[in-house]
Amino acid sequence: VELIITEKQIAAKRIAQILSDGKMKQRKAGEVAAYEFDGKAVIGLSGHIIGIDFPKEYARWNYDFHKLIGANTVKVPVQEKYTTALKNIAKEASRVVIATDYDREGELIGVEALDIVRSVNPNVAIFRVRYSAITPEEIKKAFASPVDVDYNLASSCEARQEIDLIWGAALTRFVSLASGRLGGDFLSVGRVQSPTLALLVEKEKEIESFVTKKYWEVQAVFPDFVAKHDKGRFWDEAEAKGIVSRLGKEAVVTDMKKEERGDHPPSPFNTTEFLRAATAIGFSAANAMRIAEWLYMNGYISYPRTDNTVFPELDFRSLIGMFLQTEFSPYASELLKKDRLVPVKGKKLATDHPPIYPAAVGVDPKGSMTNEQYKVYELIVRRFFANFADPSIWERKKVELKIDGEPFSASGIRIVKEGWRWFYPYNRIETKLLPELSAGQKLKAVKVEAVGKETKPPPRYTQGVLIKKMEDLGLGTKSTRHETLSKLYERSYVQGKQIRPTKKAYAVIDSLASYAASITKPDMTRLLEEDMDRIAAGKKTEKEVVDESRTMLDSIFKDLMKDKAAISQVLKDKMREDEQVGACPKCNADLLIKRSRRGLRFIGCSAYPKCDFSLPLPRDGRVTVLSQKCEKHGLPFLQINKSGRKPWTLGCPYCNFIEWKENSKKEKSVQTTEAPVST
Ligand SMILES: [Zn+2]
Ligand SMILES: [Zn+2]
Repeated sequence: VELIITEKQIAAKRIAQILSDGKMKQRKAGEVAAYEFDGKAVIGLSGHIIGIDFPKEYARWNYDFHKLIGANTVKVPVQEKYTTALKNIAKEASRVVIATDYDREGELIGVEALDIVRSVNPNVAIFRVRYSAITPEEIKKAFASPVDVDYNLASSCEARQEIDLIWGAALTRFVSLASGRLGGDFLSVGRVQSPTLALLVEKEKEIESFVTKKYWEVQAVFPDFVAKHDKGRFWDEAEAKGIVSRLGKEAVVTDMKKEERGDHPPSPFNTTEFLRAATAIGFSAANAMRIAEWLYMNGYISYPRTDNTVFPELDFRSLIGMFLQTEFSPYASELLKKDRLVPVKGKKLATDHPPIYPAAVGVDPKGSMTNEQYKVYELIVRRFFANFADPSIWERKKVELKIDGEPFSASGIRIVKEGWRWFYPYNRIETKLLPELSAGQKLKAVKVEAVGKETKPPPRYTQGVLIKKMEDLGLGTKSTRHETLSKLYERSYVQGKQIRPTKKAYAVIDSLASYAASITKPDMTRLLEEDMDRIAAGKKTEKEVVDESRTMLDSIFKDLMKDKAAISQVLKDKMREDEQVGACPKCNADLLIKRSRRGLRFIGCSAYPKCDFSLPLPRDGRVTVLSQKCEKHGLPFLQINKSGRKPWTLGCPYCNFIEWKENSKKEKSVQTTEAPVST
């Protein structure tokens, strides 16, 4: 029997369908579905079936850090039912084909499965197939020319897992112990996570320390356009108003320029560019990636984890031709009129996968997907079309005028030929019209005035912009960046679409930055990422790189242990701010998040026992204090984050409590929410 192993269940089913032309039969291998045809069996896993962990004796929070950093890690099965199913089915196999996704993660998942297969069938023949889309052409081509498993690639992934485990465990334990936050409230610190969070804290400080400055602009308003004084910003109000008072309304055109400029199509989508575009139309990075994976698994798009922005030779004409039967038909037929279809090239060339492209289309893509899935699919289709389209042409005009000797100018912009923007109508540029004028022409202004304005702080990061910044700094990989962002939200370090760090984030980053700055800087993480590339290229071994990282971490810990007392003090002082949830409605002292002796969380007054005001809080999940406040009570809104779930906005804790009391009066049934507790 030939055993084919895929990364996910749905991929197993689709690949079996493709290879058997729909004639496969489903059976059970233990608790897992397998698909059989012509002496072949396809089985799908659920991602990693082996995890890396420390041996049990290291589980204590206050285990000696030095020993923890040096500890050998162990491999543990994390998906028993797949391990069992694999063992079952592998005994009869004469050949094994690894058909997991082709990248580091997929290669390691394949090697994990192979370890299990070989434990029951040591001499089995092993093959690897590589594909970039789950479509009949790609899959059949891949299975016709199998290659060898790339053990170096798998090792580079395993090195990452090991390093992240060791660093995460040691640093998280240290910081949690130092701040007195253990159990469910622990403070996580990580190799990629912490430098990323530091970027956000840095930006927020820049915004906080920004002092807005007032300035004035002098403008002349004409019936169909507005011209501004060439000086731009006047910092002195008297100067601006002085000019206005001297000026009449007669203007004379001194110069009029007009030019046409082309605006090249956007580059093909790699993961980063895709996430940037998807977050710009309202998706979170994690959600966009989840949807892209669904589209890939179902054959609609090529592999979404790619760094590449340069297309290899593909049959573009037939890829675009597929859309003639769909709602994209006008766009497809427009492109097909071209003699040659040449996609625009991006700046990053990689050979593992092509840029993301629509690999297939049903008769009715809109009808076979949810709204969100369709929106992402449409984005990918339109971007792909735009890659082949002509530049869009803009007409720019600039007019220069004089009013009583003072120079003014105005500009206009207008699209002449839509080009690629017709295919990809996202982020439109606003048209600004300027009438046709010529030098020497005289105009009469409606009014000349000084307008007061103020400078604005820099904008906060959005998810898309942050992911791009992480890529530039070498933080994380295309497959992990969006996950790092999700963790920051889950752990209540950040909030909002315009990402804003919480008090807790300040506490952790500030204390680390003062005593072990390297944890908050991207340099070490980038070095380690480069080392992982070297493992993949066969230039370094997994053991060398992991050992080097242990040495780095050991030297960090020398600094941390030396200043342990000081770090602990800084953390505890700063964390107090994180626990503040506004002013007590009864006595105006600070309200704090507290814990009762029984370990239950609640909001209590800092003036206790003089004031006994208290409000209940949900039993678990992390509490994030939002910037929005209740109009009635002045208390900040709260959000509850639980790992793997959408955050739940509880709103004002006081309103929430009042509502709960009313509901429980009405129902008189068993309490479903927690009653308030007091110390
Ligand atoms: Zn009070
Ligand atoms: Zn309220």
